[in-house]
Amino acid sequence: MKEQEQIIEGVEKDRLAEVEQEIRHRLERYLDGTSYRFNPDAAVVEEVIKGLAIRRLKTGHEYCPCRVVTGNEEKDKKIVCPCDYHKKEIKHKGRCYCGLLVGPDYRAEG
Ligand code: SF4
Repeated sequence: MKEQEQIIEGVEKDRLAEVEQEIRHRLERYLDGTSYRFNPDAAVVEEVIKGLAIRRLKTGHEYCPCRVVTGNEEKDKKIVCPCDYHKKEIKHKGRCYCGLLVGPDYRAEG
């Protein structure tokens, strides 16, 4: 519990930054084999990766920060990033639910 509180309060900032880097690199390797890329809005990418890092530090898994973790392992493994839903979402909306990953035709909003 104490560990969680420390993470939430940002005491473990160095560890958080390290985990963010690991996640970014892992996702870059994933993207290399696809036609997808990170959202051109770097602030969105930073925010979502930070959310993923916090979830990993809290739960041990890189669960999507935009979705509810149910506690049911079978259901929850579908929302480990990149989740089971991102391909369909990118196909229909140009971006995944969180906006972290976008398709080749994605144009930034605004
Ligand atoms: S919605 Fe996007 S950020 Fe969330 S898990 Fe799926 S691919 Fe990752």
